[in-house]
Amino acid sequence: MEKLYTYLTNINLDVFMAMILAVLFSAEQLFTSVSSLFKRTTHLINNVLLQFGYLLLNLVLASLVISILNWANANKYGLFNIIETPYYIKVIVGIFCIDFVNYWAHRLNHTWEIFWRLHRVHHSDTIMDSTTTYRFHPLDAFTDNLSGVIAALMFGLDGSILIFWLVLYIPLLVLHHTNFIMPNWFDRIFGKLIVSPNFHKIHHHQNQEFTDSNYGLIFIFWDKLFKTFRQIPVSEIKFGLTEFDKPERQGFWFLLKSPFVNVKKNS
Ligand SMILES: [Zn+2]
Ligand SMILES: [Zn+2]
Repeated sequence: MEKLYTYLTNINLDVFMAMILAVLFSAEQLFTSVSSLFKRTTHLINNVLLQFGYLLLNLVLASLVISILNWANANKYGLFNIIETPYYIKVIVGIFCIDFVNYWAHRLNHTWEIFWRLHRVHHSDTIMDSTTTYRFHPLDAFTDNLSGVIAALMFGLDGSILIFWLVLYIPLLVLHHTNFIMPNWFDRIFGKLIVSPNFHKIHHHQNQEFTDSNYGLIFIFWDKLFKTFRQIPVSEIKFGLTEFDKPERQGFWFLLKSPFVNVKKNS
């Protein structure tokens, strides 16, 4: 157990994510025509450029997050610092707690205008593939770190439990965005517990009713519990947002400045 702990907490999560993405991007290409490679590469570059900005900001924020978590643990803040709990229970329950806070943080990203302007960059993608995983506005690093810190402060979790949650979440996050459509049996079996890739694709539908559904990150039961779960066939989904449909609104520079401009629908 100690070996597993040391191994998992020493993983470089950025490299881990890049490796999974490289494998799945290549797998997608095997099932796509060679002529699509140029279009896919342009799409990849736009999304990778956004991710560079995100990672730079994340790097700056990382030491601040670690300091806050160390301070909170030293002062015994949070539920698990009040109730004496074995570490492995903290890991298991902590993963659910972090996912729960992230479900609500994701809902707030869709509800509060200031957060939506950042988060809509992720939703703007009209072509869904593994590289959509990288399509987040750099300033989204603030809101993502904030939800991790809030979860840790509320429940008294240290940074290692956040890492355990990320090690589970990152492969699923990339899988959510691949252009593979999962068979129905996958949704029937795994969809009882986790957010299957098909469920997350529904979250990327242009139709508002579906954009504002399936907010879960790892576990689907938050959506079922709070009545935000929707299910339709993936073949009926139109990806993106109508206000970002034009090709000139899909490039890196437009996406970077988009939170600060009024992007009107159909103009
Ligand atoms: Zn969303
Ligand atoms: Zn997504």
